[in-house]
Amino acid sequence: MNNRSFDSECKTDQLFPESIIRDNIKRLVPYSTARDESSISFGTYMDANENPYNTGYNRYPDPHHKRLKQELALKMGTIDQDMIFAGNGSDEAIDLVIRVFCTPGVDNVVSISPTYGMYKVAASINDVEYREVPLRNNFALDPEAILKATDEKSKIIFLCSPNNPTGNLLEKSSVIRVIENFKGIVVIDEAYCDFSSEEGFVPLLKVYNNVVVLQTMSKSMGMAALRVGFAFGDSRVISYMNRVKYPYNLNRASQEAAIRRIREGSRSLGIIISERERVSRRLNESPEVIRVYESETNFLLARFKNASGMYKFLTANGVIVRDRSRTPGCEGCLRITIGKPSENDRLLSLISGYGKDKFILPPNPFIEISRITAETAITLKADFTGGGLSLINTGIGFLDHMLNQITTHGGLSLELDAYGDTQVDFHHTTEDVAIVLGEALNRYFKSVVNNRRYGFSLPMDESQASVLIDLGGRAGFKWDVVFSGEKIGDFPCEMLSHFFSSLSTSGKFTLHIKAEGENDHHKAEAVFKAFARSLSMALETDLSEKFPSSKGVI
Ligand code: PMP
Repeated sequence: MNNRSFDSECKTDQLFPESIIRDNIKRLVPYSTARDESSISFGTYMDANENPYNTGYNRYPDPHHKRLKQELALKMGTIDQDMIFAGNGSDEAIDLVIRVFCTPGVDNVVSISPTYGMYKVAASINDVEYREVPLRNNFALDPEAILKATDEKSKIIFLCSPNNPTGNLLEKSSVIRVIENFKGIVVIDEAYCDFSSEEGFVPLLKVYNNVVVLQTMSKSMGMAALRVGFAFGDSRVISYMNRVKYPYNLNRASQEAAIRRIREGSRSLGIIISERERVSRRLNESPEVIRVYESETNFLLARFKNASGMYKFLTANGVIVRDRSRTPGCEGCLRITIGKPSENDRLLSLISGYGKDKFILPPNPFIEISRITAETAITLKADFTGGGLSLINTGIGFLDHMLNQITTHGGLSLELDAYGDTQVDFHHTTEDVAIVLGEALNRYFKSVVNNRRYGFSLPMDESQASVLIDLGGRAGFKWDVVFSGEKIGDFPCEMLSHFFSSLSTSGKFTLHIKAEGENDHHKAEAVFKAFARSLSMALETDLSEKFPSSKGVI
């Protein structure tokens, strides 16, 4: 079917399955808010027992997700707002369609196998029988077998395209054959459609009103933690889903972030697709791999000679993939999500070293440390690929600002949370943060480089700083910085030398730091930036041959 026929009038109105909606749902009087009943858009809100003082989150979020739907409808162009359901991930939509259409203990749903596991879980939770129909050998949909598995109690058919975990698109003509010959709802889960080269199934909504298409912001849009997913379908189906959902199913932060993301679009889609192709080619060359399946998603399904051995080996070396080797149809297969280029490189080099005696493990760029003492509790996640988002919270504003210089200029990302006795003073928190960061640097350096010296001089307005690092494995510290005042803001200047000396002791590297200038803030910032620059050179693993050491151990 081509686009022109999608534009034609809806030819199958008789397919709209109002009759299969559960009676109790048809009769349901949904929860409504006082604000639904009033047309005033700005008022004195004394209806919802909220706290009136503004925290940014003191009011309940919009239960109808109006702005979000407006933005999405605008972006998509082809569907109206009343055809959009917004949920707490598309997982919520999966559960809701079952609850709207299936009577527990009576009805059944039909799906393909292998596929995404939540259809079965949601059916089981709702006490709805789940029938699985295997895909053909090449993972193609078998429409006749699907239809054959249905009976008068079948209310929903779940299809997934591109399919998880097989990665392929379902043939459009086969899907249409199912839609046209089924009297219930056909859900087409398109969680991965943005990674695909084909148009997808949304245009079918103009033609068939027994179709529900699911999409999510968790994959190409990179918003999995915010839990935002959508169902698109006939406005009558969507309105029943809205009646059944929790009134405030999508929190305000998620709605706002989703709106911004929809406007911006995905920045990482292109690189993920090109990395998928590169990783696929490289896996295909590996003697450990029997076959890599074509993928229209952000993951690859690959059949290995020894999948469970490979899975254990990868896990033992800190790379977690999904073992699908016991899933019928995926025997011997691992499902590998495409990561950042450096993560993919690590995976590929591990696979190439599998089973070899003299294999040198590539460094693990992710280090996690948790340290609790009587004075502080600190957790640190360091990502030495530098591609992550840094979130630093030590409870000391100036220290956060300085640590952010390290991540911005140092080629690493840090998620750092420190709770310390800052009500006493900043000493313990500053020192312990330095100890934990030093420990992370030490662990990483040990696995990457040895015996290296780096230095960087950095001007900052009227100030300048130079920082030299020697990664010879021995702690040493020289500090040649004089501050004109005692404090920068509320941060004592003497804590700066203490921070770097603790860092060098715990990181087991030598640091020589020198700075001059008139403004204390500039001087401190120049020191942190110069340190970060030296560090980023140290993290550049391919500089190894450029700065040879004159001795084995310096
Ligand atoms: N559908 C498919 C096919 C998926 O693979 C996933 C998540 N792995 C989901 C839906 C769930 O997405 P969400 O995060 O929006 O709940």
